[in-house]
Amino acid sequence: MPHSPLNLVHDERLARLGVTLHLKRDDLIHPELTGNKWRKLKHNLTAAREQGHTALLTFGGAYSNHIRATAAAGHHYGFRTVGVIRGEQHLPLNESLARATAHGMTLTYLDRRTYRRKTDPGLVADLLARFGPAYMLPEGGSNALAVRGTAELPAEIDQDFDLICCACGTGGTLAGIAGALRPGQRALGFSALRGGQFLAGEVARLQLAEFGRVGDNWAVQCEFHFGGYARTKPELVEFAADFGARHGVRLDLVYVAKMLYGIYAMAGRGEIAPGTRVVAVITG
Ligand SMILES: *Cc1c(COP(=O)(O)O)cnc(C)c1O
Repeated sequence: MPHSPLNLVHDERLARLGVTLHLKRDDLIHPELTGNKWRKLKHNLTAAREQGHTALLTFGGAYSNHIRATAAAGHHYGFRTVGVIRGEQHLPLNESLARATAHGMTLTYLDRRTYRRKTDPGLVADLLARFGPAYMLPEGGSNALAVRGTAELPAEIDQDFDLICCACGTGGTLAGIAGALRPGQRALGFSALRGGQFLAGEVARLQLAEFGRVGDNWAVQCEFHFGGYARTKPELVEFAADFGARHGVRLDLVYVAKMLYGIYAMAGRGEIAPGTRVVAVITG
């Protein structure tokens, strides 16, 4: 896939504060395999093929971008796909799951209690017995090979920058990006979930798995969750609509809008210092 574009944002609100902002448009990577989900899948698909697998099995909620991207990847790269979905089946399928099935994904459902045990060896063995041998991807797609994929992002940026920001769900994107920065550069992840404090542990675990060490050039900002995962507030909706009108970029409200809102807020408070050159990753 070609590198995603880098766009300079002309915004007087930031110019006044001396902050420059570029958008790394990973939302434009591919119409279906968008953003960080493609980066996280890429090396996993290679590994699956090398291990002789013809099927992928993964986990997610009914609105998971990872489920949808896995289905699309299976369709384009010739893997059968199985999506294990949290909660009960609701018909008709929502748009996200409808697209997944249109790409040939087989869906199965686990009630919330069972879903919590989804990594238990017994449950995994049962799923593989029912659906056949498959390469397993964790919920959200974040494992060491996913981190290897997201670590390829910084080298695509041909501008100097001081701070790179991304939204966080599992922390895989932040782990990879932070692991590939130059000395002096920092990464800041914005939790899209309430109680995102656990993410620091996840980022550390993923960095250890892929790089064998944990960096000290990153942090997780937990303030801008707007009520929690997939929740929103009028000020966030308004910010995203205004940003879209000014800059012609449609912001995903689940993740990306929360990060950008946070960047503007932190710049306004001086927590992102005047003179900082920021890159914000539009992950999807
Ligand atoms: C999945 C997703 C994220 C979160 O990425 P993690 O690697 O799970 O932290 C961020 N933005 C978008 C648009 C996503 O779909």
